[in-house]
Amino acid sequence: MISGPSGSGKGTVCQGLFKELANLQLSISATSRKPRGAEQHGVDYYFLTQEQFELMIAGNKLLEWADVYGNYYGTPQQPVVDAVNLGVDVILEIDVQGALQVKSKYADSVLIFLIPPSRAELARRLKNRGTDSSGDVEHRLQWAEREIKEIRKYDYLVINDDLVDAVQRVCAIITAERCRPRLFDIDLFLQNY
Ligand code: 5GP
Repeated sequence: MISGPSGSGKGTVCQGLFKELANLQLSISATSRKPRGAEQHGVDYYFLTQEQFELMIAGNKLLEWADVYGNYYGTPQQPVVDAVNLGVDVILEIDVQGALQVKSKYADSVLIFLIPPSRAELARRLKNRGTDSSGDVEHRLQWAEREIKEIRKYDYLVINDDLVDAVQRVCAIITAERCRPRLFDIDLFLQNY
C-alpha cells in the first residue's frame, strides 16, 4: 500500500514503478466521487453511485473501504486475490484508514507513506495541481494533518523531494520485501533447491 496526503505524488510515483519493476499490478479502486478532468471509468477508478458502492460493501466485495473527503473509496477484492495467487504483487494507492484495514487482515502486506519534503511544499503542490477548488485544497490540507499523525504505523516513510529518487526508493523497498523468506514456501523451496 502506498499512502500519503493528496499532492504527495502517489500517482506519479506509482506510474514510475511500472517502468522499473516487473510482476506488479496496480489495483483500480472503486469510488462514489465524480470523475475529475480526463479520468476514465475502469482506468483511473470504477466510478459508482453511492448505492452501487453500498451494494459492494454489503456483498463483501471490497478488501477495504473508507470514507475520504465525504466520498466512498474502496479496493475491489477479487482482482487482488487473483493477482496474488498468480504471484503478482499488487500496489494499492489508498488512504491511511484503508491501508490499516488491509494490514490488520494481511500482516505481511507492506505500508509505505509518501510525503512532500515540507508542509509548505505540500500546500504549494496542492494549489498548483489546479484540479481542486480553493475550498477543496483547504479540506485536503486538513485531511493531510490527520494522515500525517499515522506515519508511525507505517513500515516505510519516503520523502518525495525528487521524483526519480522517490521512485527508486520505493522500488528498493519492493525489491527488499520480495527477498523476505516469509514470502517463500521455504519447505517447498528447499525440497527443490
Ligand atoms: P482522489 O480523490 O484524489 O483520487 O483520492 C483521494 C484519496 O482517496 C487519496 O488519499 C487516495 O489515496 C484515497 N483512495 C483512493 N482509492 C482508495 C481506495 O480504494 N481505498 C481507500 N481507503 N482510499 C483510497
